[in-house]
Amino acid sequence: MKPGLLKRPSRFILRAMSDGYSTWLEINLDAIRCNVRRLRQLTNTPVMAIVKANGYGHGAVESARAAVEAGSEWCGVARFEEAMALRQAGLNCRLLVMGYTPPACLQDAIDQDISLTIYDPELGGLYPRQLPKSNKPLNIHVKVDTGMGRLGIKPEDALKLVGDLSRTPGIKVEGFCTHFAKADETDRTSTFGQLSKFIPLVKELENRGMRPEIIHAANSAAALQYPDSRFDLIRPGIAIYGLDPSSETPLPEGFIPALTWKARLTSIKVLPPGHTVSYGGIYTTSAEEQIGVVPVGYADGFRRVAGEQVLIHGQRVDVVGRVCMDQSMVQLSGLTDVHIGDEVILLGCQANESISADEIARRWGTINYEVVCGLSNRLPRIYLESGPSSTDHAITN
Ligand SMILES: *Cc1c(COP(=O)(O)O)cnc(C)c1O
Repeated sequence: MKPGLLKRPSRFILRAMSDGYSTWLEINLDAIRCNVRRLRQLTNTPVMAIVKANGYGHGAVESARAAVEAGSEWCGVARFEEAMALRQAGLNCRLLVMGYTPPACLQDAIDQDISLTIYDPELGGLYPRQLPKSNKPLNIHVKVDTGMGRLGIKPEDALKLVGDLSRTPGIKVEGFCTHFAKADETDRTSTFGQLSKFIPLVKELENRGMRPEIIHAANSAAALQYPDSRFDLIRPGIAIYGLDPSSETPLPEGFIPALTWKARLTSIKVLPPGHTVSYGGIYTTSAEEQIGVVPVGYADGFRRVAGEQVLIHGQRVDVVGRVCMDQSMVQLSGLTDVHIGDEVILLGCQANESISADEIARRWGTINYEVVCGLSNRLPRIYLESGPSSTDHAITN
């Protein structure tokens, strides 16, 4: 079964698709489309949908396709092979690799129209020397470090690099960009400081007649909070998946989380008092307890930490004992009429309860980004969307 290839499932097909799985992810492509449209509407700026890391766990190809259908002109990824995978899947939008690309990839970059980032004078010298003969140019975005302290040429060296590359045969400087370190924080000093380094460089490029076609800087948080950071293109990642950039920068109204993580209860039994549960026996039943098994473990990206919870029958249920590689045990004593096969929600909504990526992030001592990026490739991904003429939103619960 290849659920990703089944487009526009009806309710019936969706049921059939998840029927064969004990745990799976449902990704609502309509939510991704809606979020991209909302970003375009709020910022009035063209969009580069960031789909690195398998689309933040949502599936790179399907997320990219949904974003492009909603008007995203570009997709951005971290690594060259991520861009190649999108091309091979038939995506024909503009593509940017934001990280390091080995010179061995230059031929493919030209052939496949994949734009690359140069963020260091050494790379600026290396690429021209390794450039294969072609009648098409290699498209380059020059990245400047205005305060992130990660990739990017120093501001004082940026104009020279753009100038040198612009004069290099076979290279076209298509973009000029930077990245913010604290756009998701309430204190605006840092982002304004970075902008005050970036904007004069853009002005100077304009004065010298060297302004590349596309100036870009804004991640999700900046795109929403700093109109001056939008320039010609915004680079939202987390917001297109409907997740908050941070607790200090929640998304405005109208964004929808795209991902739900489901499983089925695989075992239910009553253990006597004093019975231990799972490896190490760190949990002991204090009375007769109804203990269930959920077929999800740390190999799926569920963390082996205390305090995990899931939803069953619309109620919060505690995970007890250690999370194993493929399974976790849950305390079902508050529930009646539970059966093998009942739906378990690890992330998402059920009846009136919900568990968000942010809640899981708090449990794990991390951020929602890491929660969704950590969802293992082992988890089948089922893509939901309403057909063009259908009113049937293919959502099961
Ligand atoms: C990941 C990334 C983004 C997207 O950031 P979000 O906070 O997810 O919107 C944008 N630009 C660069 C350079 C990135 O690495």
